[in-house]
Amino acid sequence: MVSVSEAKAIIKKHAHFVRTGIKTLSESLGYTVAEQIISKYDIPGFRQSSMDGYALKFEDHNNRLEIVGEMRAGKQSDVTLLSGQAMRVFTGAPIPTAVDTVVMQERVYREGDWITVADEQLTLGMHVREKGSEATKGTLALAQGTVLTPAALGFLAGIGCEKLLIFEPPKVAIIVTGDELQEVGQPLSFGQVYDSNSIQLRAALQKAGIETVQVFHATDDPAALEKILGQALLASDLVLLVGGVSVGDYDFVVQSALAQSVRPHFHKVKQKPGKPLFFGTKDETVVFGLPGNPSSALTCFYLYVLPAIDRMMQRADSVCYSKAVTTVDYPKNSGLTHFIKAHLMDGKVLPLHAQESYRLQSYAQANCLLVIPEESTGIVAGEEVQVIVLP
Ligand code: AMP
Ligand code: MG
Repeated sequence: MVSVSEAKAIIKKHAHFVRTGIKTLSESLGYTVAEQIISKYDIPGFRQSSMDGYALKFEDHNNRLEIVGEMRAGKQSDVTLLSGQAMRVFTGAPIPTAVDTVVMQERVYREGDWITVADEQLTLGMHVREKGSEATKGTLALAQGTVLTPAALGFLAGIGCEKLLIFEPPKVAIIVTGDELQEVGQPLSFGQVYDSNSIQLRAALQKAGIETVQVFHATDDPAALEKILGQALLASDLVLLVGGVSVGDYDFVVQSALAQSVRPHFHKVKQKPGKPLFFGTKDETVVFGLPGNPSSALTCFYLYVLPAIDRMMQRADSVCYSKAVTTVDYPKNSGLTHFIKAHLMDGKVLPLHAQESYRLQSYAQANCLLVIPEESTGIVAGEEVQVIVLP
C-alpha cells in the first residue's frame, strides 16, 4: 500500500508517453502545440488604419488639408498623397505609403473636402497598424507548449496558419467488469445494477478532450477479462479497468493484468474512497484498475487518471488544488487520506451528505473534493483545508 503522494509520484514517472499529430484549427481546442509555429506571412500584410478618420503626413497636421480620396477595408487604391492632402480612411483600410499618421474623425473639423486637425494628442504614427506588427514572416509566432485556447486558435487563424502539430490525446479503453452490470435503457433484473461508471468516465474523458473511447464489458471471468484486456492493450495508450480490483473472490483485474504482462507499480493507496486502486504499465501503455464503486472510480479518475492524461498531452494540470475554510467539523481516524465530496463557494467549503462510495447523489452536486490528510484525525469548523477544484 502506498500513500497518495507516492502514488502520484509513481504515476508521474511512468505516464509520459506522447504522440503528436497534425490537426486543423477547428480540431485543436484544448490541445498543446507540439512545434514552434513560424509565421508564413507578414500580418497585417499591408499598412492599415486602426480608426475611422483621415490619413495624412504628420508634418502636415497643422495645415488645412484637402481630402483627395477614400480607402475602405478590403479595397485597393493607387492614390498617392502629396503634401497638403489627406485621405478619408476607415478601420482596416490599407493606407498609402506616403501616409504616416491617422487622425480620428472625431478630432477634425470638416468643411466640404477640407479638414483641419484638432487633436492635441496626435503623434507621429498614431492609429497606423504597421505591416507585420502582429506576426512577422519567418519569425516565431507561437511557442511549442502553448495550450490552444480560443484566443490562440483565433491568433493562428489570423496569421493564416491552418493546420498544426499538436500533442495527441491518448487512445483510451474502458473495461467495466461485473456480472451484475446492466446497460442503462434495459430493464434491471434482480441483483443487477446499472453501469454508471462507463457513462461518467466517458464524460470525464470527453471533458478532458478525449473523444475516442472504446468501452468493453467483461464478466467476472478471468479468461474473458484477459482476452478483452489483451485487445485493449494493443489498441490503446491508456486502459481503465473498472471494478474487480479489490480482494474479493471474483476480483480478477490484477491477476488478469499480470497475465497480460502488465508491470505492476502499485496496488492499493492509503486513501478513502479509492483504496483498491491498481496502477501498471505495459510498454508505453498505462493501465489503471479503478475501484468499481462509482464514487471511488471517479475520485481516482480526478486524482490520478486525469493528471496522467495531462502529462501525456503535455499540458498543465486540469485539476486545481486550492485552500478554503471548512464550515463544519469533520472527524476521521488517522491512516488514510480522505477525499470528501464538497461544495466550495466564496472561499468556504461545505462537505456534502452521502459520502458512501456506492453513491453519486452528492457527487452530482459537488464542485470540489475536500482533502483531509492521512495523519489527520479530522478538521474543525473555521480551519483552513485543502480542496481540489473539479474541472
Ligand atoms: P467491485 O469493485 O467489482 O467489487 O465493485 C464494487 C461495487 O461497485 C459493487 O457494488 C459493484 O456492483 C459496483 N460497480 C462495479 N462496477 C460498476 C459499474 N460499472 N457501474 C456501477 N456500479 C458498479
Ligand atoms: Mg465486481
